[in-house]
Amino acid sequence: MKKEIIIVWFRQDLRIIDNPALFEASKIAQILPIYILDDINPGEWQMGEASRWWLYHALKSLKSDLKGNLQFFKGDPLAILEKLIQAYRIRGVYWNRCYEPWRIHRDKKIKDFLKREHIENRSFNASLIREPWEVLKQDDSPYKVYTPFLKQGYSRLMGEPVTTLPEPSQYLFFPDKVQGATELEKLKLIPAIPWYTSLNAFWEPQKISGLQKLNDFLENGLQDYDPGRDYPSRTKTSRLSPYLKFGQISPGQIWNALFGRKESSSLFTFRKELVWREFSYYLLYHFPHMPIQNLKKKFDHFPWSSKTDTLISWKKGQTGIPLIDAGMRELWQTGQMHNRIRMITASFLVKNLQIHWLEGAKWFWDCLVDADLASNSASWQWVAGSGTDASPFFRIFNPVTQGEKYDEMGAYTRKYVPELADLPDKYLFKPWTASESILSQAGITLGLHYPAPMTDLANSRKEALEAYQSLKLFPH
Ligand code: FAD
Repeated sequence: MKKEIIIVWFRQDLRIIDNPALFEASKIAQILPIYILDDINPGEWQMGEASRWWLYHALKSLKSDLKGNLQFFKGDPLAILEKLIQAYRIRGVYWNRCYEPWRIHRDKKIKDFLKREHIENRSFNASLIREPWEVLKQDDSPYKVYTPFLKQGYSRLMGEPVTTLPEPSQYLFFPDKVQGATELEKLKLIPAIPWYTSLNAFWEPQKISGLQKLNDFLENGLQDYDPGRDYPSRTKTSRLSPYLKFGQISPGQIWNALFGRKESSSLFTFRKELVWREFSYYLLYHFPHMPIQNLKKKFDHFPWSSKTDTLISWKKGQTGIPLIDAGMRELWQTGQMHNRIRMITASFLVKNLQIHWLEGAKWFWDCLVDADLASNSASWQWVAGSGTDASPFFRIFNPVTQGEKYDEMGAYTRKYVPELADLPDKYLFKPWTASESILSQAGITLGLHYPAPMTDLANSRKEALEAYQSLKLFPH
């Protein structure tokens, strides 16, 4: 009689350390580790191209960590699992939980099916320090504001280690290639047009693991994280977000690596950022309409602009506002954007251009290697002012003063907007204020080598505030 198999379904947990589904299954039976590329259930939230590029490398590393024993599928997971269960002696299906509304909906259907078939199904927490239902107000309703959420849910854990698991001590893999499985290459995650070469130059997911990235940050970034994290050219942030997004490192591993270090404002701020990630997942779980609907209903009445040409200029980094263009080009070239610049470019789109935050969120979704439904939607709603705990609408970032303050020597802006490299610092963030002769000495004609500003910052700020005033008629 054939031995029983437990399917370990990898999803957003592409690692072998601190992976409870893998750990528990490995103790019980021979395991069949699988990954399913599901482009059917996510609807409009199908993974973007930059994320697919990252996923390819993450899966390649995971396959190698599992000694070649990861099998790949493409399609609807329910149909794929049904076929596997018909064809093999499957005792159980184990996975780690995900919190995107479409995944919860899909997983519920799969659970029901497994129950009907009397197949053991176990799911675990591998993506969050605390799951969304563990932190509630006294009346059992969810928190809407970050600070009380942090205090109630995480203060006790500050400086404390959390439970993590080692790599399973032994594996017994199901040895054969199973029916319907395909090769990683056949998932076609790497785009046919090689636009991603600049991503290769910036990231090395094929060489650098999540743990190496963490150690590099602990040695070279953490000490100056606060205030270094605010300056885009100082590279003091961890750049762990794509690793966290695909689960190549767990938040618990990061949390515990901070344990025992000298307490400092940098350490405290870094922990708080990890909790912002938790809060984003929390909001997504409790308010599943967050990716597409304003959390503050009155924003449904905001008079958004539908000018597609301004949206295109923003996407292309051709707005004529240097710091905005630097950020948008960084995004395109590297698949990431520094957090402060994400806030400034988002504020510019939503407020100065009055374009709906969802347009920006969708563009980020396509371009970011760390595109994450929870953090992306929560952050866009935060910037727009439509979120539960949002930056007030009247806080409109000025990309000129932000550049002067946080890109002190202009290194970041000059890197991504090389047309302006020779412009003196004084004019770098506002070339439209330079005289013809200064511009010509720097080799620039506005409108020819670099666009004239697409909007007057002061006027568009005023117009945005007026539009916001119109919402005052609506109570919520
Ligand atoms: P670090 O500063 O080193 O922080 C460590 C980790 O904490 C990050 O890797 C991330 O997981 C978490 N974190 C930090 N800041 C935030 C935050 N504000 N919200 C939630 N988690 C945070 N982050 C994503 O992971 N995916 C997204 O799709 C995403 N979209 C965003 C869109 C906008 C408009 C804005 C303003 C922010 C967005 N963020 C997103 C949050 C933040 O910008 C990134 O997490 C951060 O820049 C990643 O860089 P890092 O790993 O070096 O961060």
